Amino acid sequence: MSKLIYLDNAATTKVHPKVLEAMLPYFSEEYGNPSSIYSFAGKSKKAVEDARETIAKFIGAKTNEIYFTGGGSESDNWALKATAYAKKDKGNHIITSAIEHHAVLHTCEYLEKNGFEVTYVGVDENGVIKLDELKAAIRPTTTIISVMFANNEIGTIEPIKEIGEIAKENDIVFHTDAVQAYGHIPIDVEELHIDMLSASGHKIYGPKGIGIMYLRNSLKLGAFIHGGAQERSRRAGTHNVPGIVGFGKATELAKETMEERAAYEIKLRDRLIDGILEQIPHSRLNGHPTDRLPNNVNISFEFIEGESMLILLDQKGVCASSGSACTSGSLDPSHVLLAIGLPHEKAHGSLRLTLSEEITEEDVDFVIEQVKANVERLRSMSPLYEDFLKSQK
Ligand SMILES: *Cc1c(COP(=O)(O)O)cnc(C)c1O
Repeated sequence: MSKLIYLDNAATTKVHPKVLEAMLPYFSEEYGNPSSIYSFAGKSKKAVEDARETIAKFIGAKTNEIYFTGGGSESDNWALKATAYAKKDKGNHIITSAIEHHAVLHTCEYLEKNGFEVTYVGVDENGVIKLDELKAAIRPTTTIISVMFANNEIGTIEPIKEIGEIAKENDIVFHTDAVQAYGHIPIDVEELHIDMLSASGHKIYGPKGIGIMYLRNSLKLGAFIHGGAQERSRRAGTHNVPGIVGFGKATELAKETMEERAAYEIKLRDRLIDGILEQIPHSRLNGHPTDRLPNNVNISFEFIEGESMLILLDQKGVCASSGSACTSGSLDPSHVLLAIGLPHEKAHGSLRLTLSEEITEEDVDFVIEQVKANVERLRSMSPLYEDFLKSQK
């Protein structure tokens, strides 16, 4: 059995041993409900509030601007739905981008069915949002702009500061889905004029099922989950104490190691990109060449199906992802790859490899070798490639 080479860290990450260690007591001895009065529950309450403070400081927010949620998807739903309904008197118009995560896009579709109007701003060939198009989309009735910090498929980092300034000048709430950026690249909500931000534990070596919503104090929004008085009565439900503690610890580790980890990942990322592009003809990098997440590689290969590549890589213990059909459960290729202008065939032949600190140079070289062999093998079976070769003669 070959070694596992996990290159799907954009999908989820392994819980760091120190995170697990920090969480464990809160499953057993320290099981008190943080909302209880007696002193036994005090330790749980303190653990929750310490995590909140760590997270707030990490993104330049105030402690009481951080709300714990059940993950990135919930935070995205909260941001869009709560703002849309709270600002209904001002208008019914929402602006987002064409390359958002489905947690944002499907929430927007739901809102469209309920009387709201949504503009989906396009991106350029590198996946960078078109700021002119964004500015032109603004109406007197626009209440929220939601644009992701960094894209989960192609790794492109968006011009968040510029978007924040545009939103501020026009008195529009600015939400960013920072699930892929948080803990990977620096974020300061003040400097970037962010009003609402979503992040998730399991993308930064924390546990699944825990997220945060940063909500600027000046925004007056009602409850999203109705019930008890937890989270300043805005997100009811007994606190997920182990999850919160884990997210706090993962944030603390991110703060300590982010810079070093990013430098290491960028080195491996570029080795992987250069190796593949140099050794495999008819391949192209998707996403911005430099303004991209330190751990993201996304490459399209002509004349192959991404699905088949994933199956062959899996046989060698390599976990990867693709922007093609079945993985997403639909027949259409990734909306992100289509938005950057890839035709369907090229979008189907894409491969996403997302790194972590555990990956070595040897792993990268092994993967390049495997990808190369698989592309050759798949092309040798492709009638399209055969036609292409004939046309070249
Ligand atoms: C993973 C992800 C989400 C969803 O987060 P969950 O915690 O899994 O609900 C949302 N947005 C982006 C960009 C993501 O990568």
